[in-house]
Amino acid sequence: MTTSKISIAQEHLSLILEELESNRPFEACGVLVGINEGSVAAVKRAVPVSNSRRTQYSFELDPTEFYRIWDHAEKEGMDVVGIYHTHPANAARPSEWDKKSMRNFPLIWIIAGIDGVFAYRFVKERLSTVHMV
Ligand SMILES: [Zn+2]
Repeated sequence: MTTSKISIAQEHLSLILEELESNRPFEACGVLVGINEGSVAAVKRAVPVSNSRRTQYSFELDPTEFYRIWDHAEKEGMDVVGIYHTHPANAARPSEWDKKSMRNFPLIWIIAGIDGVFAYRFVKERLSTVHMV
């Protein structure tokens, strides 16, 4: 089932924006844990993960932390419904590198940039915007 909306609370968006500020000049990244309810991905937790690339223009979720969070979520009956990362010096639009990764990892991607926070996903080889509710 393809989700077309993501429900995310202000507290989670605030955490992502705090991560954006506190990791400058590097990109920050993390995992969104929640439940897929029909066409809506409901975020219950935003969990920061170390950026193992630690650069200003790319990120990579630390694989050990990522799988530990995923395993813990499954034990609670939840899923990893999306991931987030930050663009501390750029707009919140997927870079070419992001788009390549999104194809391989077709969850909802939240990007926080200098112009705000937006959600995207690749559906049938096309980048589409996901509504945040
Ligand atoms: Zn990016």
